[in-house]
Parts: sequence; structure tokens; C-alpha cells
Amino acid sequence: MEHHLFDRDRVGLQDAVLLEDYTNENAFVDNLSKRFKENVIYTYIGPVLVSVNPYKELNIYGPKDVKEYNNKAFFEVPPHIFAITDTSYRSLKEENREQCILISGESGSGKTEASKKVLQYIAEVTDHKGQVERVKDKLLFSNPILEAFGNAKTGKNDNSSRFGKYMDIQFNYQGNPVGGNILNYLLEKSRVITQMPGERNFHIFYQLLSGASHEELERLMLKRNISTYYYLSHGEKVNIDKINDSKNFCDMKKALNTLEFSEDEQNEMFSIISAILHLGNIGFSENEGMAQILKPDLVETVSKLLKCDVLQLKKALTQKTIETIRDVVTSPLNRELSIYARDALAKAIYDRLFTWLVQRVNSSLQPTRSNNNVVMGILDIYGFEILDKNSFEQLCINYCNEKLQQLFIDLTLKSEQEEYMKEGIHWQNIEYFDNKLICDLIEEKHKGLISFMDEECLRPGDPNDMTLLEKLNERLSYHPHFISHQKADTKLQKEMKRDEFKVIHYAGAVTYNIRGFMEKNNDLLFRDLREAMTISKNSIIHSVFLEAEQRSKKRPETAITQFKNSVNNLMSILHTKEPAYIRCIKPNEDKRAGIFDNDLVKHQVRYLGLMENLRVRRAGFAYRRTYERFLQRYKCLSEQTWPNYPGNPKDGVQILVRTLGYDSEEYQMGRTKIFIRHPKTLFRTEDVFQMK
Ligand code: ADP
Ligand code: MG
Repeated sequence: MEHHLFDRDRVGLQDAVLLEDYTNENAFVDNLSKRFKENVIYTYIGPVLVSVNPYKELNIYGPKDVKEYNNKAFFEVPPHIFAITDTSYRSLKEENREQCILISGESGSGKTEASKKVLQYIAEVTDHKGQVERVKDKLLFSNPILEAFGNAKTGKNDNSSRFGKYMDIQFNYQGNPVGGNILNYLLEKSRVITQMPGERNFHIFYQLLSGASHEELERLMLKRNISTYYYLSHGEKVNIDKINDSKNFCDMKKALNTLEFSEDEQNEMFSIISAILHLGNIGFSENEGMAQILKPDLVETVSKLLKCDVLQLKKALTQKTIETIRDVVTSPLNRELSIYARDALAKAIYDRLFTWLVQRVNSSLQPTRSNNNVVMGILDIYGFEILDKNSFEQLCINYCNEKLQQLFIDLTLKSEQEEYMKEGIHWQNIEYFDNKLICDLIEEKHKGLISFMDEECLRPGDPNDMTLLEKLNERLSYHPHFISHQKADTKLQKEMKRDEFKVIHYAGAVTYNIRGFMEKNNDLLFRDLREAMTISKNSIIHSVFLEAEQRSKKRPETAITQFKNSVNNLMSILHTKEPAYIRCIKPNEDKRAGIFDNDLVKHQVRYLGLMENLRVRRAGFAYRRTYERFLQRYKCLSEQTWPNYPGNPKDGVQILVRTLGYDSEEYQMGRTKIFIRHPKTLFRTEDVFQMK
């Protein structure tokens, strides 16, 4: 039984390409809303899937649904994430083409859940025996591990990913998963030392305290009470959360075992987590400008857990050594700097532990044979961000989204062009906004924001946030997408403060506050602390600090340059792949089911570039189908084609089109498909069909 665009799923339009006026944002959002109210969360824009977070369990991901989508033509079943995944998987298996599934959307919109559904579908439609099953278990179980260490409760999402993730699944020639590899981006490490009201630190801290056995806690010298630890409570009473940390700890441990983490490795990991908690409780007083440690026994606890020298650690927390050309000078830190050093150490340890964890997971996911594998990548990365206060992190995230938008334009236009060529249809240029200008503003060598930030970090003298901002204002004010607070006569500039600058991103204007840029970009850890860690006998600590030390023998790369390099590396990985897009939308700010906030959705539609999406799609032909399918559906509309057309389907369609009186401007006949420019034409045909 063949389904059709109009048969199933009769709520609104299942493809926004069919909207009469494709420039009308309200009509687009209304269509999403209409569907959402009927629990239909998926809608297409051509091949792009739009997904609205239902915030409740829908019964649409069971084995029956997997079966419904397995091996079906994309447009002949209602929109679903399984349809996207199936199409991508089949292209991989049948045509040997590398795939990537790009998931974007703001925090809480359902990206991570979507990536899990993709993995679930793949796991269910591939072989269920021996080695393959083991690999799939490992791929699935990598999630609870990375989520324990990389996710946290925020105002927007109880399980918010605080890092970007790109995961490759490797398939053998039979189309079965044989391995995987994960790349991680920009963990929000500041969360280790501080959180906004109502938010939490990373899950693992709570999991360990509530899930570990008494013996284990004793070994780690921990108390169960969360309020004991400054990094979790900041001296306030902690509300007990609904999150089931103790069960999640159990699941996570199971996952560690599935991925073959040894007993020793697990002990070392938890020692590090415990050390961070104790570290946060070390306080300082000040005497004549020199910091003094308030609870020296805590330093002892930390050094026991990290297996490093206690005297060296004490020194490193209260003094700093600088090497000049002539000699080595040691000077004491004041209280403020000691706190800074302590927090920097906690952040560095956690960040590096996380990177180690990803590498360790990867080593467990490596396929035994790596030649001739074909790859499907899944990207679950933070969407475009505009907060009340935007800082260094938002600049990084938004820069990454500019690059992804550029990739989208490149690949979409390329694939449209390819299809037109394949079908022998005349290619017309599509007008679109090219955001290369904005990418250049940020990343161009010697002339972009990143270059100036790095220049200022390395400049001798007393560079600081304000001197950096001066430099940016001076050198970038000519750029149409950069607004300094001095730039006169623009409306945008009015509400800007002296320590702010604005970038007009493709998704909208964002005001960044310069405070903290230099420190975050420098990402400094005093040398004394680095040395203390490098000779640690905890093998994880030892290896991650040694590695970093060796990498930065010359001049360490700044945080933004490291990020830029990894983003560009990601782009070149993605560029060689056939893309599929999932755009996730959050229907309300309250994590509630059934509520659709039109204004909130409209914002996201804008930031996700969905209208631009639709425009590019509609600039060509709204509708295309193979001659067989088209004829099959509409053959009853002409006596010559009913009940069966004896000749080839293309001729049959030609007859139909003449009978229906299509305007010659309205359609083109390709090699295997008919292309129809405007949905109106199709609707008219469908009306005739329905009346029959
Ligand atoms: P993101 O990764 O975009 O920040 P998540 O994928 O973590 O968002 O989703 C946030 C929450 O929304 C999930 O914990 C879940 O409760 C709910 N959710 C997301 N997608 C779905 C879905 N398809 N069905 C049911 N609930 C969902
Ligand atoms: Mg997430």
C-alpha cells in the first residue's frame, strides 16, 4: 500500500514547502503549532526535519514504528526522525556514501534525545548477534558515561549537555556497526566551581555522593551530605533534587564495566572527583599580603587522593614562580590569587579528566579492522545563543554556528545543483545570504576578532579586557557586521555600554560583554600547579598534565585558537559527507507538555534560519517525484492513463500534465522525476483527485 503526502497525518502540512506563501513566518509557525496540538511533533522543509520537543513520552518510537519506517521511501511515510535516519543509513549501505546527521537547536529543544533516537534506530535495524551486538552496546552505553561527567541541570534543561559532541559510527560492508569515535568540544568547565541559582554542578558529583557504597565513600574520605562541599553548595542549603542520582550512578557504573574500564581506572576517576570536592573546601586567610591556607589537612586529603606531594601542592597554592631571562623568581600569592589558583586547578583537572574519559571511551570503541569502513556521524552541538549577558563562551558557540550555517548553504546548494544536473534540468542561480562575511570577521588571519584577541593576550605590557576592546573597536569598526559602542547613528548602538561590542550574526545581533575575555582566552594555570600535577602518581592526572605540558612546549595556544582549530577540523570532516538535518525547537520555557508559545518558537525559527531554509528550497521546485509514483497516484485523472498506462511512465505523466492543463512555466520533466515549481499546482491536482 502506497502512502502519499496528502493521505496520512492529516494535521496541517507535513512539508512546509507546500505553504502557499513561503515567506510568511506566521503561517510557518501556525502549521507547527497546529500539528503540535495533535501530538505531531515532526514536520519537513524538503529534506530537513523540524522537531518540536513534546516534553512527554509519545508512543512513536517502539518496534512497530521502527518497522514502519524501515526501508520506506522518505516522502511516503509521515515525517519522523526514523525516516531521516533510514534514508541516511540506506544511502550509506547501498551507495557507500559517508553520512552525517546534523542536529541543532537551543538548550532543551531535544537534540540529545534526537541523537539517541538515531542510535536506537540504527541499533534495531542492524544485525543482532555476537560482535555487532557488543559494539552496539558499547555505543549506547557511552551515553550514560559522558552524560554523568558532561551534563548538568540548568534552568533550561534538567539534563543539559555542557559540551559539544560529534560521534562517528563506523559500519562494515554489510552495514553493521563495528566501532565508533567521539570528538568533544568546549566543556563548560566554569561550572565545576560555580553555578547559577537553581542549577547544579555536573551530575557525577551528586551521583558519587548518593550512589557510592559506604566503603567507597570512606576510601574517598567523603561525606554523603551535599552541603558539606563548597563547590556544590556555596555555603547555602542545598535543595534535594528530583533527579535520581543514585540510580544513575548505578547505570553509569554498569556502563563503565561494559566499556571495560578497569577497577583501577574507575578508582582513579572517582579519586579525582573527590579531590575536586575537597579542593573547593580549602580556604585562605591573608597576612601581610600573603595567603595562608586555612585547613591544611584538606590539602593533605587532596594530595593523598591525587597521589601528589603535599608540600609541593601547599606551595603551589600560595606562591608562584616566574622564570625571567636571568633567573627564577618565586613570589607569594595574596588571598585573591590563591583562590584563583585553587579554582583554576579544579577546572583544569576536571576538564582534562573529561578529555581523558572521551579518549578512553574511544579506545574501547575502536573497530578491530578499520579499513573499508563507512562512517555515519552524528553532531549534537549547542545552537546559536543569545543570553541576557553574552561572554567569551557565547562568542565561541555562535562562531561555531556561523560555520555550520555556511556548511549548510554549501551542501544544500550543492545537492540541489547535483540533483538538477542528474535530472538534466536547467540550473538557476539561487539568491541567498552568504554569511562568509561574518565568518571572516571572526576568523580571518591577521584581520579577524580571533587574531586580535590572541595578539592582545601575547602583547607585553599590561593588556587587559579594556585594551582588547579598544583594539577591536579601532580595527573592526569598518566592518558592517561589527558594532562598537562608538559607532554613531545606529539604532543598535543606543543601548550599548562602554564594555560591550556587538556582532551581527546571520541569526541576529548579539551584544558581547568584554569582561573576562582575556582571562578565559589565556586559560592560565600557574606553572607551580602544573608541575605538581605532572609528577602525580595518579596515572590519569599524570598522563593528562604531561600531555598538555609536552603539547605546549613552545607557546601554548589560546583557548579560542584551539577552539577555532577544532571547529575547522570538524568542518572538513563534515564537508566530505552527505548531510541530513534535524532542527529542534523548544515549545515553551517551562519544560511543560502541551504548551506552544508562538513568540518563543518564532525566535527559534529565526535563529535556526528556517525561513531562509524554506526560501532556498522554494527558489527551485517545491515538489518533485518519480514518474512512477506520480502516475500511480493520479492515473485516474485521464482516460488515457486509467486503469493502467501501457507505455513508459514519463510519457504517461506527460499525458496527465497536458490533461490537467499545467502551465509550461510551472513544471519541468527530468530524467526520472517531474519537478513542480509551486505547491498551488499540486494542490489543484490533488483537489481534482479528491473529488473523483
Ligand atoms: P538538548 O540536548 O537540546 O538540550 P534534550 O535532548 O536533553 O535537549 O531534551 C530535554 C528534555 O526534553 C529531555 O530530557 C526530555 O525530557 C524531553 N524530550 C526531548 N525530546 C523528546 C522526545 N522526542 N520525546 C519526549 N521527550 C523529549
Ligand atoms: Mg543536549
